[in-house]
Amino acid sequence: MSFQNPVFIPGPTNIPEALRKACDMTTIDHRSSVFGDILHPCIAGVRKVLKSKTAHVFIFPSTGTGGWETALTNTLSPGDGVLAARNGMFSHRWIDMCQRHGLDVKIVETAWGHGLPADQFEDILRADTGHKIKAVLATHNETATGVKSDIAALRKALNSAGHPAMLFVDGVSSIGSMDFRMDDWGVDVAVTGSQKGFMLPAGLAIVGFSGKAKTASDTATLPRTFFSITDMANGYAADAFPYTPPVGLMNGLKVSLEMIAQEGLENVFARHTRIADGVRAAVSAWGLDLCAVSPDLYSDTVSAICTPEGFNATDIVTHAAENYGMAFGVGLGDVAGKVFRIGHLGSLTDAMMLSGLGVAEMCMVDLGLDIKLGSGVGAAQEVYRHGPMPATIGAA
Ligand SMILES: *Cc1c(COP(=O)(O)O)cnc(C)c1O
Repeated sequence: MSFQNPVFIPGPTNIPEALRKACDMTTIDHRSSVFGDILHPCIAGVRKVLKSKTAHVFIFPSTGTGGWETALTNTLSPGDGVLAARNGMFSHRWIDMCQRHGLDVKIVETAWGHGLPADQFEDILRADTGHKIKAVLATHNETATGVKSDIAALRKALNSAGHPAMLFVDGVSSIGSMDFRMDDWGVDVAVTGSQKGFMLPAGLAIVGFSGKAKTASDTATLPRTFFSITDMANGYAADAFPYTPPVGLMNGLKVSLEMIAQEGLENVFARHTRIADGVRAAVSAWGLDLCAVSPDLYSDTVSAICTPEGFNATDIVTHAAENYGMAFGVGLGDVAGKVFRIGHLGSLTDAMMLSGLGVAEMCMVDLGLDIKLGSGVGAAQEVYRHGPMPATIGAA
C-alpha cells in the first residue's frame, strides 16, 4: 500500500490534512468549559447535517455499530417486534444485533442489489393490528451493494398503515455525503459514524434521536450502560461525557462540520453525485454492470461493480494493492468474489477519482478482462469536464 495514494474503500475515507491536525491535540481538562466549546458546536453541527431542528444528538466513543446498539438498547425491551429487510451485509449485521438482544425480528429477505421494499413493509405493518412491531429498521445506503433506499417511502408506508412504530435509519455511509432529511422523513433514530462522510478516523458513533425515541427510553428495559443516552445527556449538561471523551476526535468533528458548512451541504451532495456519475460512466464504458439493479437505487457514495462469470472480483482489489498501492473494496457476504467496490465518498475531487478509475482499469487489463485502457477514464473525464468547478473542499 502507498500512503500517497487516496483510498477508494467505502470507509474509512481519506482524511484531509486539516482534520488530521485538528485531531492532534494536547491534553485538556475534559470536565471544563474548554471541552464544552468543542462539544456544543459538534452537537449543533450534526443536527444541521441531519436536517433536523429538534433532534437530540449524542456522540459516543465507538463506531457505527455502537450507534446501532445505542438505537436499540435505549428504545426497546426484550421481545419487542422489529421489522427489517435484509438486502446486504450491513442490514444483515443490524438484524443479527437485534436477535442477540432478544428482539423479535420480522425479516423481509430482499435480493442483494435491490432496495428496501416499502410496499411489503406497508402490508406487514397493516397486518400488525396489535402493534407488536415497535421499530422499523432501514439501511439508507447498503455499502455492500451500493444501493440507496427511499426512506421517505418507508415513512409513507408507516403513515399509510397508521402504524406507530419508530423508524430507525442506518445512515453510516450516507449522512454528510448524500441528502438525509431526519425531520422530513420522520426518522426516530439516525445513526452514523466518524469515518465516512465526516472524513475522520473511526472512533465516534454519532446518533440523532427524535423526541419520540428519547421518550421511549423512559420505559424501554433493554440494559444499557456505556450507550445510555440519559447518562450522556446528563454529561452534556455539565459540558462533559459520563466518562472520558476522545477529545482529539471531537475536535476533529468540530472542524469537519465547519468544513462541510463552508463548502455548503448541498454542494457536498452535488460533488458526490458528480463524482459518482463519472464512476458510473466509467463502469458503463467498461461494459460492466453495477450490483444495484436500477438507476433510482444507485448510491452516490459507493459503487459495487459486477465482474464477468468465472472471474474472481477480489483479484482486482489484491492486484491494485500489491502492484499500484491503491485500495478498493472487496465484495462482502453473498457477493464476495462477484463484485469489487469503489468507494467515492468524503474528501474527494474529480482529479482524485480519475486516478482511482485509471488504476482500476489497469488492474482489469492486467488480469485479462476485455477492457480498453483509458475507456473508463475518458468517459469520466467527459462527465467531469462539463461539471462545475468543485467548491473548496478543504482537501489541503
Ligand atoms: C460502515 C458502516 C457501518 C458501521 O460500521 P463500523 O465499522 O461499526 O463503523 C454500518 N452501516 C453501514 C451502512 C456502513 O457502511
